[in-house]
Parts: sequence; C-alpha cells; structure tokens
Amino acid sequence: MKVSHLASLLGALCAISPVLSQDSPTLTPDALEDLVNRDALLEHARQFLAFSELSNGTRAFGSKGHQATIQYVAKLLEATGYYDIEFEEFTYSYSEAKAQFFADGKEYLTRGLGYSPSGDVTGSVVVVNDLGCNPTDFPAAVKGKIALILRGTCNLGLKVAHAGGAGAIGAILYNNLDAEPISGTFGAPSRPEGPYVPSAYISGVNGKAFIASIAAGNEVIANIRVQSLIEDRVTANVIATTKEGDKDNVIVAGAHSDSVPAGPGLNDDGSGSMGILEVALNLANFHGLQNAVRFIWWSAEEFGLIGSEYHVEHLSDDARQKVALYLNFDMIASPNAGYFVFDGDGNATDIPGPPGSEVIERLYRAYFDSHNITAGSAVFGGSSDYQPFVDVGIPSGGLMTGASGIKTAEGALQWGGDAGVAYDVCYHLSCDVIENLNVDVWERNSKAIAHSIANYALSIEGIPRPVREPVRSLRVSKLSYEERLHLSCDHDDELI
Ligand SMILES: [Zn+2]
Repeated sequence: MKVSHLASLLGALCAISPVLSQDSPTLTPDALEDLVNRDALLEHARQFLAFSELSNGTRAFGSKGHQATIQYVAKLLEATGYYDIEFEEFTYSYSEAKAQFFADGKEYLTRGLGYSPSGDVTGSVVVVNDLGCNPTDFPAAVKGKIALILRGTCNLGLKVAHAGGAGAIGAILYNNLDAEPISGTFGAPSRPEGPYVPSAYISGVNGKAFIASIAAGNEVIANIRVQSLIEDRVTANVIATTKEGDKDNVIVAGAHSDSVPAGPGLNDDGSGSMGILEVALNLANFHGLQNAVRFIWWSAEEFGLIGSEYHVEHLSDDARQKVALYLNFDMIASPNAGYFVFDGDGNATDIPGPPGSEVIERLYRAYFDSHNITAGSAVFGGSSDYQPFVDVGIPSGGLMTGASGIKTAEGALQWGGDAGVAYDVCYHLSCDVIENLNVDVWERNSKAIAHSIANYALSIEGIPRPVREPVRSLRVSKLSYEERLHLSCDHDDELI
C-alpha cells in the first residue's frame, strides 16, 4: 500500500472525538509507569510479527510489513484523540540483492551486494592486479571473463564499475579478512567509470584459494547468479504530538519503525517502537502536561538514519529551538541484555552529548539505581537516530540493551545472562522474532521510558536551551551511502 493511502485511512478516524476529560487523573511518573506492562507489549509484538509475514519476514522500510507497522501505530494513537498525528513522507532508494556463487560446480557462501544488477553469468576467472581501484589494474584478459578483486581502499562499486569498463561479464569480490563477508553495497546506483556487472562477495579464505589455483596454472570456471531489487520507495515518519502541553517546550521520544531486509526486527527496533507506543497510549489517560510530548517512529533508520535526518533537516529554526530534548530507544529487549544509558556527560566514553544530556543521563541512572540495577554507558557514536539531534545541539539521551557486542564477565555478574555471548545473537537476522525478546528487560525499560516522559512532561528544569546549531552541522548527510549503512549496522560500537 502506498503511503498516500494512509492519509485517507486517518481521515476516516479523525471523526473520533477526544476521550480526555477534566475527570482524567493528573499525570505523575509513578501513575504512568504503573500502566505499562508486558501483556500489552507482547500483544504489539504478535502484531509486528504478523506484519512481517506480509512481506516474507521483513519490515524493511516501504515493505508491506513496514507499511502495516506504521498504520497500526498511527491508528491506535489516533483512536485516543489525544494526539495530533502527522505522516512525514520522504522518498529513499531501497536496494537488496540475493546472490549465489559456484566455482567448478561447487557452491560457496556469498552475499549479494546492494545495486548489483541481476544476472546469471558463467566464465573463466581472471585475477585483477592490486585493488582494482584504477582502470590500469585490469588486464586485457578480463574481457568476456569474470574479474576476481580484493576488497579494500576504494569502494566496492568503483571496483565493479572498472571491471565492467574493462569488459568483464561478472565480478567476484573477496574479503581482505579471512572471514565471511556480512554485507556490502556498491554505494551508488551507477558510476561513470563503467557499467556494473553481476557480482558476488566471498570470504578471504576462498578468494586466496582461487588465486593459488589460478597461479598453479588451473582454469577456474565461476557462475554468479544475482537477483536484485533497486527501487525508490515512498515512506514516512509517524509523528504524534500531544494536544496538551506547551508547544514551546517539546519533549521528543523516538524509535525506528523499520527492520533490516533480513528479518522482522522484533528487538531491532520493534522493542523501542512498541515501548514508546505503549507509553504514548497510556499517557493519553492523563491530563496536567506542562510540556508537549512528541513521539516519533522513524523510517529507514536501517539504511543510514534517513528518516531522523530528514526530520531534523526540515525543522524550521523556530521548531528546532522549541525541541527541549530528545530521547532515543533503539533495541531495549536484547535476549542477553545489558542495561545501557547514553553517556550524556561523556565521563565513560569521552563523547558527551550536547549540554543538558548529562541531566538526562542522571535521571535514568537514578531510576535504575532505585531498582537495584547498575547501568552501563552507551556512546553517542552515530549509530542511531539520536545523531541528527546531537549534531544540532539538542540535549539527548536514551536507553539500549546491546546488539552484536559481547557481554563481559562483569556484565553477566551485574545483569545476569551469558558472558562471552553477544547481547543479541539474532541481531539483523531472521531469528529476531518474539522469542528473541527479553520480556523482563523490555518491561523494565518501557517503564523507564514512562518515568522519563512523565518527568519531562511535568518539568524540564535544569535542561539548558542554548541556540541550536544550524542544519549544516548535520554530519550524516555528508556521508556516502555505504558509510551510512555502516552507521546503522553498528549499533554498539562501544558499550562500557
Ligand atoms: Zn536499530
């Protein structure tokens, strides 16, 4: 379903009148927190999983599963009558590729590369000199054959464009590490250096074995099969702002509504999306907000913080000034979880958030202390949707429970779980399903979200409001497509 249909769906719902009356209870942090519970969270989880089944197990941005996700969120919020709801639409290039690779009849593990053209090519393998970053690295013999190229120094897409320019019919990239490659992309839909050719991406071990075989005088016949999809997709951030509260002081809380193409993303970031949804739905029971609260479900985070950056870039100077603070919740139910709070003061990671972020950090630490939980520190490393807010100087904070990072012995002592095992073994994989959610941790973190939202809806005393940095200070927009993807892939560059 196209996003434009969402507006008409909402149009029908707008007739519902607000349910809030003067009889509604007055907001307190404890009262809001008490309403948040695991049963409601798990009901959302069953829905999110069902949505992913509409598009072969994914909720990647713009897929049917993703469209259903954002409609579900908007519909539930609209029914409360408590929020003004907006779809902030934008278009971004989606790409995915599935590849198979055979050599001399044997199949090898490979990854498809984003923007690789589809095709089924068979030919003799020719080794490229150096790194394939210059046209002169390609011997004349690659014409009509398959080029074998080492990863490194320049973009994979540039190497493949040079191969196409030299007349190769396909390209095999091999990792500069022995390990199997995780993912990759050509970084741009096309390049002037030459046409892209169907490509596969293999491990360093296998790449070196082919080179040794060719050096020994053998001919290696390779077959590359690629099925790829490249398309512009229209998608939207869902923005829900309370009708009550001072709109000159807006508390913004965000989570990303999209998953990676590889899986349904129940933890990443279904957990944060459902956590803020449940807090938003329960907040609708109360009156007495001093400050407005705005919940935002970002789209296309997994392609490089696209939705959050679009949003901050398109805020007017005035609107940017009125955002009092930003709270981010990306992965809050990891199966082997740690409790991490963003390091606002920078004392653990040397990367403080903008002034005021230390106040937010303190609030979360005090909350966890009161539940006998010692929280670790998460770094503002650019790996999630807080970054555009940090870049323009908005005080920021948030929670996370870890992605591919490995839990230490100390972490296991503090929080339970297994030392030496990733916080989320299903990170960015098809097994990020309901069973992957740590429900105890999810409920605790969702209650922590409720606690923080209620506190800041009532008072932002102590949070400074310096003039915001201009939009040109946004860092992400200066990155290449490939660098953006790396950002969104590396959820825990550093947890302490
Ligand atoms: Zn995420």
